[in-house]
Amino acid sequence: MPFSRTIPTNDQPLVVAKILHFRRQAPWMYALLSINAAALAYSHIGYAPRILTHAIPAMLVLLALWRVIAWVLPPSAAMLTEAGAARKIRQTTVLGAFFAIAFVTWALCLARYGGPYQQGHVVVFIGTTVLGCLFCLTHLPAAATAVGVLVNVPFLLYSALNGNTVFTAVALNIALVTAVFLIVLRDAHQIFENLVASRNALVVERQQAQRPSDENRALAHTDSLTGLPNRRYFFGALETLLASRQGAASPVPPAPFCVGVLDLDRFKAINDTYGHVCGDRLLGAIGARLAADTHAPMTVARLGGDEFGVLYDGPPEQAEPAIRHLCESIHRPIAIDGLEVTLGCSAGIAVYPEAGTTAHALFDRSDYALYHVKAHQRGGCAVFSHEQEALIRVEQRVEAALQVACLERELEVHFQPIFDTRTMTVSSVEALARWKSPVLGEVPPETLIAAAERLGIINAVTLTLFARALESLAVLPDPISLSFNLSAQDLMSRTTMREIVRMILATNISPKRIIFEVTETSLVTDMATAREALERVRSVGVRTALDDFGTGYSSLGSLQELPLDILKIDRTFVNGMATGTGRSMVAAIRNLAQSLSLDCTMEGIETESQLIEVSLAGYRYAQGYLLGRPMPIDALLMTLRDHHVQLPDPAPRSLSAVRIG
Ligand code: C2E
Ligand code: CA
Ligand code: CA
Repeated sequence: MPFSRTIPTNDQPLVVAKILHFRRQAPWMYALLSINAAALAYSHIGYAPRILTHAIPAMLVLLALWRVIAWVLPPSAAMLTEAGAARKIRQTTVLGAFFAIAFVTWALCLARYGGPYQQGHVVVFIGTTVLGCLFCLTHLPAAATAVGVLVNVPFLLYSALNGNTVFTAVALNIALVTAVFLIVLRDAHQIFENLVASRNALVVERQQAQRPSDENRALAHTDSLTGLPNRRYFFGALETLLASRQGAASPVPPAPFCVGVLDLDRFKAINDTYGHVCGDRLLGAIGARLAADTHAPMTVARLGGDEFGVLYDGPPEQAEPAIRHLCESIHRPIAIDGLEVTLGCSAGIAVYPEAGTTAHALFDRSDYALYHVKAHQRGGCAVFSHEQEALIRVEQRVEAALQVACLERELEVHFQPIFDTRTMTVSSVEALARWKSPVLGEVPPETLIAAAERLGIINAVTLTLFARALESLAVLPDPISLSFNLSAQDLMSRTTMREIVRMILATNISPKRIIFEVTETSLVTDMATAREALERVRSVGVRTALDDFGTGYSSLGSLQELPLDILKIDRTFVNGMATGTGRSMVAAIRNLAQSLSLDCTMEGIETESQLIEVSLAGYRYAQGYLLGRPMPIDALLMTLRDHHVQLPDPAPRSLSAVRIG
């Protein structure tokens, strides 16, 4: 049974492929049927009754043309489904059978009329039309078999019953050719089925091969600690958002979207105090909170460390409250390993297109907004503003000037005296950088240091300043020490720290006369390296001071572990001393320092009463405008001389202490 196989309805692509292939041939098949029938009717006009030459063929041709139109129209959605295609194939088989019976019956009715030419035409009509139709039915074997059988059997029977031997011989010929045709078509159809099957297998294989790479891709885009999307995903999504806005040129301004950066406050201190395992758990818990609070059109990713990125496909009026909500969510206490930890979270937001039109610019601006939030209102959330844009311009001008600056010529060091409150003598001087740029004029030291850090040239700046400071220290009397500020990046650079030690040892100055001041922020960046750097300088006799105490976020636990000698209290505490709470704070810090065996320096003393209060509170050292402003070395020496302080050679060295004013 060549085409006895039923159509495999469980193989959707195969049935769909079959019907789609047939769809291309169907119009030709019905057109062939119509034209051949019209020709046969025409050749019988005048020989056969009008009903056989006009009415019936007209009706048959109209039916065939209806099918032509039906197949020329685009396929319905249902026809492209497994069930729809199978149904269509069944319909086609039934219709094929109907057409076969109708046409062959009509043709055999005509065979009784006319002469040998007309009768010959009937035979030719049946033979050629059936073969043409079989060709077109290559992909529908059931229909082809039905048509072949339903045409040939009646034709053979008719010929045999009529006793017309020529007719019978031709009918046998046609039946034979039809049988061979069906066999050939079966093979062709088998090849077609195999082709579709191997194509399907290939697709499945590809899908299977694709699955691990999809999983890998998902993994490559996920942060393993928090389960949130990672940095790579974040920047990819940001680029996609940008592309969606920058695609077609449109007179309507592009819809805004927001890029946010979240940064945890105090995370590093907790990580250092309680260990990395606890830190990792904390990040995991924060990741879960962020994921729970993230809803479209917002995406939150972990960018690394304790930094998270937010994309909000909407205006800042919507993005800001949503991001603020994330910060508040992080701020709720978290229970980890029996500890209850409360973290802060600050956020900066940049809005496309105002803040920038590239991923780099937008991220940079949001980071900048974050930096400002952290400096001015920790735990807050701010959108990058025009004022910040102006500040960036200023910073860029400073960076440009610093890049071309001759450090040796343009940098200077001023010195501010620090007093011993017990003797009211100068115990040390703090070296403070001064930069007079030929382009910008005088630039505040904080601006200089921040720009040098951004440009990555802080080490060169520090070494230049330190060399100057050492030169000046050499002309100061022995008991006076030098307090020198180191930046976080100096502590992190082993080469710089080595060079600093080398410079100290290359002079005749006792390392005991040198104090390095570091800020809490510089310590929390990388506590271990900072500790190592401080231990290294302390090993040669240098002392260390923690600057601006009370403004940073290092934990008291790590304070105890650090190799420190002096605690310098930020001047904000002096201003607060007018109140009872302020005074208690100052006293509490003093007690804390004492319990850690640290000396204390109070900064920012501007009034007599402040000086008296800090002295009474037990602060060993005091510094401030009241006691002396930062001044060039010559001015400092002059002041010391005015106060009869004996200076080292060429001035003779004597005094054990120096008193100014
Ligand atoms: P700092 O280390 O806290 O230095 C003390 C700052 O407080 C100095 O500002 C000083 O002029 C100012 N000051 C001292 N007494 C008073 C006072 O009674 N009232 C007020 N309102 N201010 C007072 P300056 O020189 O502008 O330095 C600012 C900051 O720049 C320094 O703060 C320090 O963080 C940084 N800096 C300065 N020189 C260097 C340096 O050579 N290296 C590094 N890394 N940073 C430096
Ligand atoms: Ca300082
Ligand atoms: Ca300070």
